[in-house]
Amino acid sequence: MTDGYGREIDYLRISLTDKCNLRCSYCMPREGIRHIEHGDILTLEETGRLARIMAELGIRRVRLTGGEPLVRRGITDLIKILREECGFNEISMTSNGVLLADMAEGLYDVGLTDINISLDTLREDCFSLITRSEGSGLICTLDGIDSALEAGLRVKLNCVPMRGINEEDIIPLTEYAADKGVSIRFIELMPIGCAGSFERISTDELIRRLEDRYGASTPVQCSMKADDRGPAEYYTFQEYRGQIGFISPISHKFCDRCRRIRLTAGGFLKLCLQYPDGVDLKIPLRNGARDEELKKLIADAVKVKPASHSFDTLRDTIDKRRMVEIGG
Ligand code: SAM
Ligand code: SF4
Repeated sequence: MTDGYGREIDYLRISLTDKCNLRCSYCMPREGIRHIEHGDILTLEETGRLARIMAELGIRRVRLTGGEPLVRRGITDLIKILREECGFNEISMTSNGVLLADMAEGLYDVGLTDINISLDTLREDCFSLITRSEGSGLICTLDGIDSALEAGLRVKLNCVPMRGINEEDIIPLTEYAADKGVSIRFIELMPIGCAGSFERISTDELIRRLEDRYGASTPVQCSMKADDRGPAEYYTFQEYRGQIGFISPISHKFCDRCRRIRLTAGGFLKLCLQYPDGVDLKIPLRNGARDEELKKLIADAVKVKPASHSFDTLRDTIDKRRMVEIGG
């Protein structure tokens, strides 16, 4: 599928639920959200059908997200459908990792290939503060990372650095990633939903700080990147064992290379993170639309995918939904 700006759209992020076992303060309000009614969540079969139709339209890669995808019952069945009925060879997931330790092997066995695990801190008190959770969440996530690696999944770590919150975790996290032999990517905080009360640390500032610790940085050429298809730009540092990725939606927009669309848990096809625009697919799906009709709806929507976000200038147009509802 090609959009109105000639970008090839071949990457679909599927949100499986708006529920989560954590309550990260930059993603979800303290009081939680009003969840989509159970009956309004796409069934696994409906999600599978839409994914197959989109595969026929040219989607090549899918990522499962949420909310927390691992709280969705039947997730392994969906992965099987995505692999066997839709023909996806690359199926990834973004997860907080809390439930991963017991699930990693089973997920790998049914066809999950990659997992990005969100890890903003290595300190328990900071983990509790960010995720508004008590107990062993951090330990569970770290166990989950180990299990994912043992199972054979390709693992990457994601961290959203925030001033005054997890700044002091930046170096411990890069050291942890190097010890585990995985890449870590730092994602600039986007002004979506609940993120407004936190201060973003820009990629340029982060690179300067990492240079203070690890020496001069060099951008990694495309073919050598730890991940050559996503929006992350990778750098090596003179004294760092590995590559560090930076996803900079605000300071270095990558919209001209955007290849993605999003399907929410309620069956809405969302075209760009910033804008609420898109097309509802659930109603036509449930009203008996044929594959060809759904294909036309999807392809027509993709044609009007916005050129770029304008988080910095057009704040009034930002989707009011929180990240946990959209599927980050
Ligand atoms: N629950 C899973 C997790 O935490 O990985 C998947 C869903 S979560 C919404 C996906 C990613 O979005 C996480 O890495 C999270 O840190 C990131 N995220 C949430 N709100 C964000 C924001 N305002 N700006 C940047 N990243 C954000
Ligand atoms: Fe849940 Fe992920 Fe949002 Fe945290 S970032 S509240 S883990 S959906």
